[in-house]
Amino acid sequence: MQITFLGTSSGVPTRSRNVSSVAVRLPQRSDLWLLDCGEGTQHQFLRSNLRVSQLRRIFVTHMHGDHVFGLPGLLASLGMAGNCPGVDLYGPAPLEAFVLGALQHSSTRIGYPLRFHRVEAAASSGAVLLRDGEFTVHCSPLIHRIPAFGYRIKEKERAGRFNIEQAKDLQLPPGPLFARLKAGETVTLEDGREIRGSDLCGPTQPGVSMAYCTDTVFSEAAIQLARGVDLLIHESTFSHGDAEMAYQRQHSTSTMAAQTAAEAGVFQLALTHLSPRYAPGNQETSEDLLKEARAIFQNTLLAKDFLTLELSPGACNSV
Ligand code: ZN
Repeated sequence: MQITFLGTSSGVPTRSRNVSSVAVRLPQRSDLWLLDCGEGTQHQFLRSNLRVSQLRRIFVTHMHGDHVFGLPGLLASLGMAGNCPGVDLYGPAPLEAFVLGALQHSSTRIGYPLRFHRVEAAASSGAVLLRDGEFTVHCSPLIHRIPAFGYRIKEKERAGRFNIEQAKDLQLPPGPLFARLKAGETVTLEDGREIRGSDLCGPTQPGVSMAYCTDTVFSEAAIQLARGVDLLIHESTFSHGDAEMAYQRQHSTSTMAAQTAAEAGVFQLALTHLSPRYAPGNQETSEDLLKEARAIFQNTLLAKDFLTLELSPGACNSV
């Protein structure tokens, strides 16, 4: 799973950080998913090596403008490119009226299906929001000034390593048979031997997982949602010193994000949704927020626009 930050600023864009959006590239398929879509996200696509034509699903955390103003433009451009098979959008109740209203009042016909999915019921019951092949998505209510939801994307367990030497020793013919055995199937050979795929595979490996929690003040639900994930992307709008402002505006400080990561036992924390007040050259900078977070949770990084992370079980490397 490959994660690319397309926007890491809170509220307004700056010269170096656009407003919120994260792209998720799924392994072994060309589908692209998007978490939030702040204004200018389609421009960020053009500056990255991602192709907007591969976009299939968009998950929206909440209806504040810095998370959704990019939707009408991006969806309109997708329509002009032609041959879009459709996009599924997930988010709070007002998402559908917002998108359809913007398209309708600008006389925009997109020419492909848009499917809206409200997330409130799955968020409050804890039910699976989406199952798509190897992936499941859960969501959870966060604590913000308006309804906001965090998301977790988890890959299914992967089959263990296939032991080719053992297969050769058994004089099994390579080719399609190997693929079936790798998938764990039991296969009967022409000579009558029955070979169990599971006997030739090592122990199953956990699939990768990530959680995206923004916007929110410190929240127990975020800890539950992020439990054990390989990567937690958590908002860190304010520094620890500005905690009072964080509580007033229902946002997190660097230390709240780190506390969440520590309690959830995640592998890697990425701080995002940074207030422009911590831009380089100011009294306090985002590097200070990083230091504060690392004092609580060492394996923390500072997200920046176009940073791409490759997730594998228990590892998270920038590419
Ligand atoms: Zn917000």
